[in-house]
Amino acid sequence: MAFDYDLYVIGGGSGGVRAARIAAGEHGAKVGLAEEYRMGGTCVIRGCVPKKLMVYASSFAVSIEEARQFGWTVEAGGFDWPKFRAKLDTELDRLEAAYRGGLTRAGVTIHDTRAVIEDAHSVRLATGERFRVKHVLIATGGRPSVPEVPGGATLLTSNDIFKLDALPASALIVGGGFIACEFACILNGMGVKVTQAYRGPQILRGFDDEARDHLAELIRAQGVDLRTGTDVAEARDVEGGVHVNFTDGSERVFGKVVYATGRVPNTEGLGLETLGLKPGHKGEIVVDEWSQTPVPSVFAVGDVTGRINLTPVAIREGHAFADTIFGARPREADHHLVPSAVYTQPELGTIGLTEAAARAKGPVEIYATTFRPMRSAFAGSPDKVLMKLVVDAGTRKVLGCHIVAPEAGEMIQLAAIAIKMGATKEDFDRTVAVHPTMSEELVTMRKPVRKG
Ligand code: NDP
Repeated sequence: MAFDYDLYVIGGGSGGVRAARIAAGEHGAKVGLAEEYRMGGTCVIRGCVPKKLMVYASSFAVSIEEARQFGWTVEAGGFDWPKFRAKLDTELDRLEAAYRGGLTRAGVTIHDTRAVIEDAHSVRLATGERFRVKHVLIATGGRPSVPEVPGGATLLTSNDIFKLDALPASALIVGGGFIACEFACILNGMGVKVTQAYRGPQILRGFDDEARDHLAELIRAQGVDLRTGTDVAEARDVEGGVHVNFTDGSERVFGKVVYATGRVPNTEGLGLETLGLKPGHKGEIVVDEWSQTPVPSVFAVGDVTGRINLTPVAIREGHAFADTIFGARPREADHHLVPSAVYTQPELGTIGLTEAAARAKGPVEIYATTFRPMRSAFAGSPDKVLMKLVVDAGTRKVLGCHIVAPEAGEMIQLAAIAIKMGATKEDFDRTVAVHPTMSEELVTMRKPVRKG
C-alpha cells in the first residue's frame, strides 16, 4: 500500500516536534505534522518558557532590596507589566519561529490546522485534505481543567495570565500544585496581593512532607496569604472583580481568580472512538512502554498519555519512539528517577523517593539541614534553605534528594546524575565541597537526623 507519509504527527509541542525531527532529520522518514494553534505547544507558548521568564521578572523586587543591603543605592520603581508582556510576546514569536525552522530544515511538512484520525492509516485535516499514513503519533498535550464553581464567575487559568492587559491589584489562586504555587509567587513578586486557597492540609501533595512544610512557610513569609483546608464555595462577578465565598465561611472580593486545579489530556474530537481506543481513568490515551496504543500503527507521547507531565519526559518519549520505529534502535523512554523543580521563590528541586515513600519500603537514614544562606543572611533575610537526602539504611544508596533554595532547579539537575548512577551516601561524602555554596551541604551532612 502506498502511503503519503511514513509518520503523521498530530500536535506541535515538545513531544511531537522531537519525534518529527528525529524521524525525518535523522532517520529519513517522510513526516507530516499538524498543529492547530502555535508551534511549540504548552511548554513554549503558555507554560515553562513564559512562566520561567515571569519568575525572573518577579524576582527583582527581592534582588533590589538585597542590593540595597549590600551597599548599592537603588530604588525599585514600579513593575511595567505591558513592557514585559510585549517583550515576552516577541521572545515567544522568536522561539516559535525557531521550532518551525527546525522542523522545516529536518524536512517535515507542516500543516497549520487541525487533524483527526479517520482510521488506523488515515488522517483528515480541517482543510479537507486526507492522507494515507503508515504511522500516526498523537502528541496533543493537555489543557487546564476547571471544576464547576457555583456563581458563574469569570475564572482564569494559567493560559490567561500570559495575556492579561494589566495585572490586577489582588488575585486568588485556587489549587496547591505546581502551577498554583508558582503563580502565587510570581504574582506576589510582581506586586499583586495574592491569596492562595488549597483544599487539602498542605500544598504540593506528593512531594516530600518536610520540603512542603518548609516551602509553605517561606511562601507565607514573602507575603502570600496561603490558606489551606479551604476551597471556593461560590464565586460571582462583581464591580471591580470577583466576590468569593469560601467553604470556611469567609468571603472576599479579588481582582482576578485563577484556577490551577490540574490539567486534562486533549483527546476530544481526534477520532479515537473510530479506532476503538478507550481513554484511561484520567481521560488519557493508554499506551505501553513503547508509547504504542492497542492499534499497532497509532502511538502517543507526552501529556496526552498522562504518564509524567513534564516537557523533558515528552521529549524523551518522542525521541525513543522515533528511534524505535524509524531508526531500528528500539528503546523505551525511562520514567524512573525523573528530577523536577517547582519554580516557586525559592525553588523546590526534587528527585526520587520522599521520606514517607522510602520508609514504606524499608529502613532509611535521613540527612537534612536548614540554614540561612550567605547571600540572604547578609541582606538580613531570615529565610532558610533546606537540603535533604533520603538514604537506604541497608544499601546506603541515596533514594531521594529534596532541596528548597534559590536555584534548587539547577542544583537538583546535577544531584540527579549521581543519584541516577546509584550513588551512595558515602559517594556524596567522598566528594569535596565547593565552598562557599549552598549545595556543599549535600556532601557535608555527617549525622542522620532520623533513622528507621
Ligand atoms: P497538579 O495536579 O500539580 O495540582 C492540581 C492542584 O489542584 C492540586 O493541589 C489539587 O488538589 C487541586 N485540585 C484538583 N481538583 C480540584 C478541585 N476540583 N477543586 C479544588 N482543587 C482542586 O496540577 P497543575 O495544574 O498545578 O499542574 C499540572 C501538571 O503540569 C503538573 O502535575 C506537572 O506535571 C506539570 N507542571 C510542571 C511544572 C514544572 O515542572 N515546574 C510547572 C507547571 C506544571 P489535591 O492535591 O487535593 O488533589
